[in-house]
Amino acid sequence: MASIFTKIIQGEIPCYKIAEDDQFFAFLDINPNTAGHTLCVPKKEVDKIFDLDEQTYMDLMAFSRRVAIGIKKVVDCKRIGMSVVGLEVPHTHVHLIPLNAMNDVTFQTKVKLTEEEFQDIASKIRAAL
Ligand code: AMP
Repeated sequence: MASIFTKIIQGEIPCYKIAEDDQFFAFLDINPNTAGHTLCVPKKEVDKIFDLDEQTYMDLMAFSRRVAIGIKKVVDCKRIGMSVVGLEVPHTHVHLIPLNAMNDVTFQTKVKLTEEEFQDIASKIRAAL
């Protein structure tokens, strides 16, 4: 069965899209640690990141870097953190998380954004890429 992220990539489930190329797709995390929290996902559905072939892994890092640089331009934060977890969704994804404090990277505290706030931040990041 297709993962929830494959369904997002295929447009069956809505998302706040940030970027896409032939191999990868980026969209806002629906339950963000901080505003601007973005997921970068290979279109190829592989559960664990270190099971990706080496070239896809390297390309995912390059794609994530490009998105992270865009996020940093528009989100007020000290830096962009990168995490890979995968305990909830078994389809490789890189979390890009705007950080101001250590707590922002723990996944223990979340922010609630309105529909308008999600739309606004997504369009600003898209414009910064
Ligand atoms: P993990 O698999 O533990 O790395 O976490 C999966 C992440 O995907 C969580 O941060 C969720 O909030 C996020 N997530 C799950 N479903 C969606 C969705 N439909 N749209 C955006 N983000 C999602």
